Parts: sequence; structure tokens; C-alpha cells
Amino acid sequence: MAVTEQLHPALLSFLKAQPKRMLIDGKWVEAVSGKTFETINPATGEVLASVAEADREDIDRAVKAARRAFHGTWAKVKPADRARLLHRLADLIEANGDELAMLEVLDNGMPITMARKGMVPRVAELLRYNAGWATKIHGETIETSVPGEFFTYTLREPVGVVGAIVPWNGPLVTATWKLAPALAVGCTVVLKPAEQTPLTSLRLGELILEAGFPAGVVNICPGFGPTAGAALAEHMDVNKIAFTGEYTTGQIIVKASAGNLKRVSLELGGKSPDIVFADADLEQAVPGTAWGIFRNSGQVCCAGSRLFVEQKVYDRFVSRVAEYASTIRVGNGLDPSTQMGPLISQEQLDRVTGYLRVGQEEGAKAVVGGERLTAGEMGKGYFVSPTVFDCVRPDMRVAQEEIFGPVVAAIPFKDLDEVVALSNNTHYGLAGGAWTHDVRKAHRVAKALQAGVIWVNCYTVFDPAMPFGGYKMSGYGRESGVHTLELYTQVKAVWMNLG
Ligand code: ADP
Repeated sequence: MAVTEQLHPALLSFLKAQPKRMLIDGKWVEAVSGKTFETINPATGEVLASVAEADREDIDRAVKAARRAFHGTWAKVKPADRARLLHRLADLIEANGDELAMLEVLDNGMPITMARKGMVPRVAELLRYNAGWATKIHGETIETSVPGEFFTYTLREPVGVVGAIVPWNGPLVTATWKLAPALAVGCTVVLKPAEQTPLTSLRLGELILEAGFPAGVVNICPGFGPTAGAALAEHMDVNKIAFTGEYTTGQIIVKASAGNLKRVSLELGGKSPDIVFADADLEQAVPGTAWGIFRNSGQVCCAGSRLFVEQKVYDRFVSRVAEYASTIRVGNGLDPSTQMGPLISQEQLDRVTGYLRVGQEEGAKAVVGGERLTAGEMGKGYFVSPTVFDCVRPDMRVAQEEIFGPVVAAIPFKDLDEVVALSNNTHYGLAGGAWTHDVRKAHRVAKALQAGVIWVNCYTVFDPAMPFGGYKMSGYGRESGVHTLELYTQVKAVWMNLG
């Protein structure tokens, strides 16, 4: 059996205190109903913790607390002090980084190296980047042409109470994407983590209190989508919903938001093309495209799940990606040598293995992988092998639908025009990749792809300063970067007659 790391002592004491309670108005409380639910370690199928289950009444209490804080204590905190609090939280994330990384591995299954080197620094940097904005939000003076003498200006104000609904594939990062800008500009938040992965959000809540954020500024209510999530999306006193998840849930949230016409931003799924031209540096493109899909077991909204390869190098390239995929070490994320962990749940395992079946029934051929992994300890968890499908027609379901697993559909193409048309032939538009040494081709593809993020000679690179979000049915609104601030602020025009 693989050697797994010792659990951090602070993590053990966090897990011991059960059931985990929710955070409302600065206090850790049980659900009004007294109900709890269990969260499972996807590598072992074992119960990790029981967690207080928020429903409509709990969400209502949390929204009321967030509303009080918005107009009360939080409104009195100066921008520089909001920045200080966010910096302090970033410091605490780093100081407790090892424990947070392990907790994310236990709840989500991701490899510990990814949690330590990717997730923790990214969360801290997102907080610091947005802390910088707290002191840089401003309105403007505007000269008008109406008769008389006027002093006219705008105020940029926080939208109010934000409901953040986040998924399980990157629990802490997706929560911070929303929390950090919302808090920087002066909003208050009710965060609903995914029911599969509530634990790092709850630990984050402890660190938020330790950092000194006033009660009610951040409330954290784990619960299920159709109950707690729906209550938040429908709530008449929530001003904005920031959502990451499936497009079908996005559609429900848009409808639910109609009651008070709250603002909505949606970061949804994708079926992103990763395009390899014959002139590319294939040494770079083989691992680059492989990790574009296999990272986090393919449970990444922007995963490069359609691999388009120029005909001239198609056979050679696809067999090299398959060979590379066969070397990926799959296992428990707590083993430091693991490169790919399990899928999140039995439901996700059923979905992915369903697509593996569908692909083969449609005539695609798995040149590597294509099955559930059950050897030894893996039998208890939700593991599947990295899979490359060859002989894929662009109209097959495995080439059209988001699988959200480590499964890539490889498809040959003749030239740039053809691959652009194939790439854009989807209702999604989240991301796209291109591998080429020809700068003209690179720019043409970057312009022609209908997607919100384009990576050339790289894939899934992130920075807090760069916007991230979708075209078409991959959603609207941008996370990260200056554009996010638009989502959490609104503009007031002030007219002063000086005559
Ligand atoms: P996934 O299939 O990746 O779990 P979902 O879109 O179902 O994606 O879930 C993302 C988040 O949306 C989770 O926090 C989930 O609880 C929440 N959610 C699911 N259904 C609803 C709903 N009807 N209303 C509000 N939130 C929901």
C-alpha cells in the first residue's frame, strides 16, 4: 500500500469537533431543523464528518445577519482596514496552509502537491490582490452640458448582500474568487459551499473570525442545492448571486433570481478545445495537453477535453499522449507521489463510467484507460483511469457533452479554418488552447475561438490579475482581475444644483 502522509494535528482536532456547525452572525450554530449530513472522503468512501445542514430558515438568518453587518459594522470599516483584514486572512491561510491543504485532499480528493503548491498560494494571492483594490474603488466627476451650474459626480458603491454558491471541484479557490472581491469593495456574504465539500469553507470561517472580520460579514451555510442553494438564489434581500457550477443549475438560478431581479454572475461548464498544430513543440505539448485534461481528475470547468491534432502528426501525437497518460500515478491524494486522485463521489463515478460506455458504444476507441480502477485500496474509492478516446466523430456525445472526468476526445483536423469551426461547434465557450510556433496562427486562433480564456503553448494557467469566465453557455461575468469589481459594485449618479 502507498504511504500516505500523517494528518496534521490541528486537522485532527478540527475533525474531532462534530457535527461541524455553520457560521451565522459570528457564531457557530446548529441548523434550525437540527439536521446534519455526512461528507465523504472520495479516496476511501469513508465518512469524514457530519455537518449541520442549512435550509431556508438558516439561510434567512444568515441573510439577515449579512444585511445588518452591511449597513452597520462593516459600513464603518474604512477601505484601508478592509484591506488589512484581507491581508491578515491571507497570512492566516499561509500559516495554516498545510492543514488546509490536507483538509481539501480529504474532502475533495485532489493530490496533496496540488493542494499545497497550487491551491493554498492561489487562495492567499487572490486575497492579497483584492485587498489592493479596497483602497482604489472610486467614482468620478463628470462635466455635463445642461443649462445652469451643476456639480455632477458618481459614487461606486457595494451592491450589498452577496450569495456565493460554489462547487466541489475547487472548493476553497472558487469560494475565494467570490469572497475576496466582495469583501474588498464592502459587500457582505452568505457562502454556500457544495454539499460534497463543506469542510475547508468551514475552516476558512474560523480563520475569518481569527483575522478579525466583524460578525455577520461572512456567513457560511453548508447544505444542498435544491434547499439551501435555492433559498439563497430566491431570497428577496440578497442583492447578488455569484455562482460556479453546471449550466443547468445556472439556468435554475437565473429563474430564481427574478423575484427581486438580483444581479447574477455565472461561471459554468465547458467542452474546451485544445489544438495542436504540426509545427508545435511536441515535447511541450504532450504533457501540456495531458495535464490540460487530467489535472484534478478532469474535474475542471476549463479542462481541455477535446484534443484537436493536425492530421500530419495525429497518430504520433495521440499515441504519445496515451503513453504519457499511462504513466500518471493515480491514487489517494494524501500520498505525495500521487498525480491524480479519485472522482468526487459515487454519482460522479457513475456519470464518468457512463460516458466511457457511451463513447465505446458510439464507436470511439479508448487507446488508454477507459475503466474504473479497483486494485487494492482504490476499490473503496471513486477512481477511474486517465482515458484517451480515438476514432471520435465531432458529433458524438463524448465530443459534445461535458464529462467532468479524466477523459479526452482526440479528433484530427486538416487546417486552421476547419479546427476553428470544429472548436466553436459547441454551446459552451469557456476556454481554448493552441500549441504552435507560428505566431500568426496563434493570434488568428486566439481571435477566432469563441471562448473567454485562451492559452497558447500552455494550459490552465491562472493569475488573480487575469479575468476568467465564459462566452456563450459557459456563463457571464468575470472572476479575478479588475473586471470582477464590476460584479460587486454599482454606480450612483449625483446631481448637485449649485445655482
Ligand atoms: P455539480 O454537478 O458540479 O455539483 P452543481 O451546479 O449541481 O454542479 O453544483 C454547484 C453548486 O450549486 C453547489 O453548491 C450546489 O449545491 C448548488 N446547487 C445545486 N442545485 C441548486 C439549485 N437548484 N439552486 C441553487 N444552488 C444549487
